[in-house]
Amino acid sequence: MSIWNKKEIKTKKQVLKYDIEVDTLIIGAGMTGMNTAYYLKDKKNVCVVDASKIGHGVTLNTTAKINYFQEKIYTKIMKYRDKNTAIKYLKSQRYAINNIKKIIKTENIDCDFKRVPSYVFASTSNEIENLKKEVNFLLEQKIKVKEKKLPLNIKSYASYCVNDTYIFNPIKYLQGIYNIIKDKVSIYENTKIVKIEKFWTHFNCYTDKYKITAKNIVIACHYPYFTIPFYLPVKSYIEKSYIIISKVEKDLEFTCINTTNPAYSCRFYNDGNNIYQISLSESHNTSFKQNDEYHFKRVKEIFNLKASDIVMKYTNVDIMTPDSLPFIGKLKHNMYIACGYNTWGMTNSILASRIISDMIQNKQNKYQNIFNPTRFNLSNIKELPYILFSQTKSFLGPKIYKKKYWYDDNIMFIKKDGKNLAIYKDKKGIEHIVYNKCPHLGCNLIFNNVEKTWDCPCHSSRFNVDGKCIKGPSIYDISYKK
Ligand SMILES: Cc1cc2nc3c(=O)[nH]c(=O)nc-3n(C[C@H](O)[C@H](O)[C@H](O)COP(=O)(O)OP(=O)(O)OC[C@H]3O[C@@H](n4cnc5c(N)ncnc54)[C@H](O)[C@@H]3O)c2cc1C
Repeated sequence: MSIWNKKEIKTKKQVLKYDIEVDTLIIGAGMTGMNTAYYLKDKKNVCVVDASKIGHGVTLNTTAKINYFQEKIYTKIMKYRDKNTAIKYLKSQRYAINNIKKIIKTENIDCDFKRVPSYVFASTSNEIENLKKEVNFLLEQKIKVKEKKLPLNIKSYASYCVNDTYIFNPIKYLQGIYNIIKDKVSIYENTKIVKIEKFWTHFNCYTDKYKITAKNIVIACHYPYFTIPFYLPVKSYIEKSYIIISKVEKDLEFTCINTTNPAYSCRFYNDGNNIYQISLSESHNTSFKQNDEYHFKRVKEIFNLKASDIVMKYTNVDIMTPDSLPFIGKLKHNMYIACGYNTWGMTNSILASRIISDMIQNKQNKYQNIFNPTRFNLSNIKELPYILFSQTKSFLGPKIYKKKYWYDDNIMFIKKDGKNLAIYKDKKGIEHIVYNKCPHLGCNLIFNNVEKTWDCPCHSSRFNVDGKCIKGPSIYDISYKK
């Protein structure tokens, strides 16, 4: 379910059916992978593969605000890195916005791209000072930030706004990118990479049946399954947020987000027939607090949404980094990665694709140094106990209950032939049995009773009630075979 996929992206639906050799293989066709392919489209032998369909990963459930006024990110970067890095990050976000504007304009992409003001507000009185610090940093960098009343009826103690920010429809944008690159780049959907091996000067990348040999590989698959060479599990955590789409009368044409955790954020979308408010809140580390029904109820209360106006509810996850900067660049040899966007992936995916495509073409990009994916600085070490605790907790729990009991009337955990199993009983009373272990790193799964999926609290793999993997990093299903 998503506000963006009312129309599916029209593609050739090509699936890999033989071994191939390419110069550059891009793994993942979300915003990161497709933008990288766009910048490399005139190079020879570029290939993109996706385990599912173009744009059907985290990008599908994004709220798609293209914004550099990102809560209090500059204060955080100054705290965990330094002021120069915060200034560079600000410049990189504005550079990314200029790049996406340029693509949409020169390629004439119809994606409901619109300039709207973006507000950041304090939802508690304690936050006013922190918000002012962020605003002062921006003013010092000659950004035009104005104090202005939030045009929405929710609790706000102070609010500031910038004007040169945008919104769009990411799936219409990816359709535009696909149309431009489809005859220059090989694109395979439903083609999952399950293993990567380094072999002399190149990489052998395997699907379940075929091999792709590549000189360069770009890992653009959000949370990677096949390689953990830079300690991603201890350098990041997963944040989950709850999104409600409701019909409204008026297109208010602005975006807003607060500075506190959990974030409250909202924007509007006019699809030509209806106007929708996209409201998001209750973001949390997936290793803690897991009560989906409660969190959706909170979003409804925060934004004063009427039950009769609500048309969709869904969750989404992103990778968070302790110093608030993404991981973008070369991992080792000719293997590149881009992830850890801290929920600002529209700007950071464009930025990543510019940096990585420049690196592949041996061009220096002025922003590449601050995002080095192999970094492991002091700020990471400070956050380490918190990250380790949350990952261990997810690995150990929820424990397998000894007592046979229907939790929430529809979930039961059992042990059979030494295996931990979980049962979901649907409304018709049909029992769906799965293995209760994520094939990625073995964490126990949690049932999401709103979207009816088994979710991994450690690294965000998701499975449907019959155990089919619908989101990585897991590449395997958990279906129980009797
Ligand atoms: C609730 C929420 C709201 C957000 N709102 C905003 C916003 O307003 N503005 C903003 O800037 N950012 C926002 N973000 C962040 C942004 O949506 C993401 O950072 C961004 O979409 C990530 O894009 P991606 O291409 O890196 O990953 P994805 O879109 O997940 O793409 C990865 C692709 O890789 C494929 N894949 C995975 N494993 C394999 C494999 N083994 N083999 C082949 N393919 C594979 C997947 O199928 C998928 O299509 C938000 C995030 C969240 C959680």
